[in-house]
Amino acid sequence: MTITLRFFRRMAGLLATGLLLAGSVSAQNTTNGQRDVLREITDVVGLKPRFQLRATTEVQNAAAVLYGGQRYLLYNPQFVAAVNRAGRTDWAGISILAHEMGHHLNGHTLRAGGSNPTDELEADEFSGFVLRKMGASLAQAQAGMAVVSDEQASRTHPGRQTRLTAIGQGWQRASQQITASTHGAAPSAEPARLATQPAPVRQVVARSAAPVSVLGKITFRAKPEVDFYVTNRLSVVRLDAAGQTAEVVGRLTRSESLSYPYVLIDGQQRRLYISRQGEIYDPNGRPVALLTDPS
Ligand SMILES: [Zn+2]
Repeated sequence: MTITLRFFRRMAGLLATGLLLAGSVSAQNTTNGQRDVLREITDVVGLKPRFQLRATTEVQNAAAVLYGGQRYLLYNPQFVAAVNRAGRTDWAGISILAHEMGHHLNGHTLRAGGSNPTDELEADEFSGFVLRKMGASLAQAQAGMAVVSDEQASRTHPGRQTRLTAIGQGWQRASQQITASTHGAAPSAEPARLATQPAPVRQVVARSAAPVSVLGKITFRAKPEVDFYVTNRLSVVRLDAAGQTAEVVGRLTRSESLSYPYVLIDGQQRRLYISRQGEIYDPNGRPVALLTDPS
């Protein structure tokens, strides 16, 4: 949340290694009857809880780190307990975890560098959104930030009022969704019926393959002389020098991240992350390629 997080993002790989290997980290999950807050948070945004929650006194407050392709949320239980006490609600601590998860889901942990005000506000808005979905009032959603944020903005973090406003925007956005979805009849919960006859539709679709067009060009820093293209079917193809044959070497898929809307997956299932600006990063946050308009 504060200076420590900046430090942690920069040192993420290194520190996570040390923390996890030193065994100073104890797993925190549902086994001791506690709420599985991570699952509750991911449930309301419709995601699988692909996060590892670790309680550790090695962090001062809380941090989102990426290590070995795994997403970790580290938190200091004493810090979370103190936030809950100060905010006079358990929602305070939950909002801290939701904020850190927001850093992961918005792709912030894929980037090099530390905290910045834009990332913080995105994570704040995410926490407001999630807490409203979980049933928190606006005041409950803001309780944690109200006690941990600095009143004045810094180079890395926005000031308190800006952050509370961002939480409020996320909260309102969720509230509008909930209100809209409770107006009128709920969508039918009837599952799709499986055809008892072989469906002819499938064959038609397979035969009517549309011509392939090119949506983008990818240039790797390490191989600038080779052109890769993204087709309208989101395949990544490499053309031979004469442009005669095309080999499919990977594909693009949508991700849940707003900042990194596409992931490039190659034949070995390795992943690269594509930003909205077309920059392509490896899992360590290093820029490795650029996606541009082919024209
Ligand atoms: Zn943060």
